[in-house]
Amino acid sequence: METLFLSAQDPQTAEKAAEILKHGGLVALPTETVYGLGANGLDGDAVLKIFEAKGRPQDNPLILHVAQPEDIREICDPIPETAWRLAERFWPGPLTMVLPCRPSVPRRTTAGLDTVAVRCPRTPITREIIRLSGVPIAAPSANRSGKPSTTTAEHVRHDMEGRIDAIVDGGPCDVGVESTIVDLTGPVARLLRPGGVTPEQLRDVVGELIVDKAVTSQIDKDAVVRAPGMKYKHYAPQGEVKIIAGPREKAAAYIRRQFQDGDAVLCFEEELPLYEGCNPTAYGKESDTATLAHGLFAALRDLDRADIRVIFARCPEGGGVAYAVQNRLRKAAGFQIVTEDQL
Ligand code: AMP
Ligand code: MG
Repeated sequence: METLFLSAQDPQTAEKAAEILKHGGLVALPTETVYGLGANGLDGDAVLKIFEAKGRPQDNPLILHVAQPEDIREICDPIPETAWRLAERFWPGPLTMVLPCRPSVPRRTTAGLDTVAVRCPRTPITREIIRLSGVPIAAPSANRSGKPSTTTAEHVRHDMEGRIDAIVDGGPCDVGVESTIVDLTGPVARLLRPGGVTPEQLRDVVGELIVDKAVTSQIDKDAVVRAPGMKYKHYAPQGEVKIIAGPREKAAAYIRRQFQDGDAVLCFEEELPLYEGCNPTAYGKESDTATLAHGLFAALRDLDRADIRVIFARCPEGGGVAYAVQNRLRKAAGFQIVTEDQL
């Protein structure tokens, strides 16, 4: 299949992309989080193509994207009052809500669950494409399954050229990590995945928030989990990722002792001088954690090479968006962490 490249600047792009989606095709779309691989979320055959193009296991459900908050009425029922309050505060934006699903949503989209994940993204061209297509758009991250998510159209081209109908180039994604996912189907709101909307911001609206254990630990591959995607290996470059925690100088001394030819270091900009000769890549500033979220996947993709054996990674501490960065890096590392007392 030949993949069409469309610029978000071109006034005809929205129409063209919507036409492809209406006819059951696949279009990669820019969002403020990462690039999504979109298809008509109400068409089971179109949705199947997403799983095939990504090589995604079919028990990993998709997020449905809507052009405006009210449109979730067509796919969710009942909708709790908390959902509207969250939508009011954070939509359009990097928040996904899991809600009870209407029977009209194909089982392929929800992987057979009776709940569905929904989000209204912020990027205007993508909202316009969804509006023109007239249906909710199922869109997981536009990467090959298991690989780091795509945050530029070039990343999408690398993973998906020849496998999908079109790529809409809207420039680099703003946030850089996938949406926050909150499950609202239980008595208490539950965080399934941290993202651009922070736990602190969520608590401000919902009060109590449980953090699901899949956020902080490795889930057994046979386990039944609330967000089935969480049990799969994620974001992983070919080399082994090891997180080295602890203070800057102590961690650097440890890494320099362990470092062998063919290894790499993924660190903060402030730390670059400590890793001369150790093949360092900085993914952002520790003093500005939004830059870490923004740069993480591009850096992991750069380091996704067969000749790199071990990637020693530095991970930010604390809450806010750093919490999402920690989660993605821990997953990339299969939760392998060398803690301060082991340095
Ligand atoms: P991706 O779009 O690739 O970032 O992955 C979507 C994430 O949303 C996966 O981790 C899914 O497990 C999660 N998800 C989608 N639908 C549901 C649902 N109904 N319940 C819980 N998690 C979901
Ligand atoms: Mg993904």
